[in-house]
Amino acid sequence: PVTTRFAPSPTGAMHLGNARTALFNWLLAHSAGGRFVLRLEDTDQERSRPELAEALLDDLRWLGLDWDAGPGAEDEHGPYAQSERGGVYAGYYEKLEEAGKAYPCYCTSEELEAVRRAQRARGEPPRYPGRCRNLTAEDRERLEAEGREATLRFRVEPGEIAFDDLVRGRQTFHGEEIGDFIIRRSDGTPSFFFTNAVDDALMGVDRVLRGEDHLTNTPRQLLILEELGLPAPTYGHINLMVGDDGAPLSKRNGSRSVAELREAGYFPEAVNNYLARLGHHMEEGALLALGDLAAQFHAEGLSRSPAKFDVEQLDHWNKEAVHHAEPARLWPWLEPVLETDVPEEAREAWLAAVQPNLERPSDAEQWARVCFGEVENSEDAIAEVEGADPTLWEGAEAALQENGTDFAAVLESIKGSTGLKGKKLFKPLRAALTGRTAGPELGPLLPLMGQERALARIRAAKK
Ligand code: GLU
Repeated sequence: PVTTRFAPSPTGAMHLGNARTALFNWLLAHSAGGRFVLRLEDTDQERSRPELAEALLDDLRWLGLDWDAGPGAEDEHGPYAQSERGGVYAGYYEKLEEAGKAYPCYCTSEELEAVRRAQRARGEPPRYPGRCRNLTAEDRERLEAEGREATLRFRVEPGEIAFDDLVRGRQTFHGEEIGDFIIRRSDGTPSFFFTNAVDDALMGVDRVLRGEDHLTNTPRQLLILEELGLPAPTYGHINLMVGDDGAPLSKRNGSRSVAELREAGYFPEAVNNYLARLGHHMEEGALLALGDLAAQFHAEGLSRSPAKFDVEQLDHWNKEAVHHAEPARLWPWLEPVLETDVPEEAREAWLAAVQPNLERPSDAEQWARVCFGEVENSEDAIAEVEGADPTLWEGAEAALQENGTDFAAVLESIKGSTGLKGKKLFKPLRAALTGRTAGPELGPLLPLMGQERALARIRAAKK
């Protein structure tokens, strides 16, 4: 089956750009009835932190991007954290060295920096000049005796390296331009090119969607795989997310972490529906569950031009998500920011009544006050009350006394006694009862606020 993966490095919080890469891979796998693998690229011992890895897993779970294999879902292709795969890599290093495809390089970082400087001065791209490429056994001994520690370099021969990118079409590189590159650092840790390529092959990954910042890594990875006789995945390099200023999305121009979005009251399906359409053409304009997003996912629909982050679009999807959510989900979402006490027995009815008027958790407070507390009238509500036909208040008071909180009966009664109808009836009545000129349907609100509260508000309007 088609197998995709998400391979984050647990060196920071998961941001929208990472979430999009994860989502696209999940959707690609599920659009083909395939598998989605999660691999932690935690070889950078200094910057990788276990709590960041945990947070990444939490974010993915929250988004609903469950993995078929990966941390917590180990199988025979694991372990799925690269920090635990040193033994696997050692065998492949050996293979490359034995085949003469990798060699120890003793150049120090200062020496290499000097070379790069000279190359820059000549207007050449930086490239390893091959100083340690053809050392004799004696040369090596001498350099080691100097106390130099070797990196391991992969030998790149001249010639064309081409592949078909799922998003960007035919890509062609030249070995001459790449130069021999490091696959193991002098401290023994493996380089990205190496682990990423080897692990995709060993974990059965055959499709990789990743950011276009990785495009130039691909020829190197293909060379490694070819030499090792391992299968290469088909790569697709997706456009990066940019801010309003066209620069890659970062904290400075609006990027937010998944955790920040969750705390701000965004629903996971809002994030997914937004991201699934960002730089990916989709016909369907309605809020979709992940499985339905997958059914509409096509790699051909992925755009090459930069994907501009638009918070208004994200907000639009969040509104959709809130309005379509099971009311039971709304309580834990808004409860943390609620100040007014909502009696437990009224909770369900209250949530159902106010759901269409919520976009953010903080929106709920106003409607809790309307139903279970005190409200201060807004200016336009005051104007509405003051401009009302005075007979309305007499009629409303009597109607409430007679009919309790049966809104239909209350309305009939007011219409009968005052002759008012339409806007002249509804607008001031809403303003007096809720302190606002717009909001949830009055029918369900009235029993929630109760007869006493409603009467008090009508009497206040009468004055
Ligand atoms: N760990 C790499 C990153 O986070 C993975 C790149 C890839 O998807 O191949 O950028």
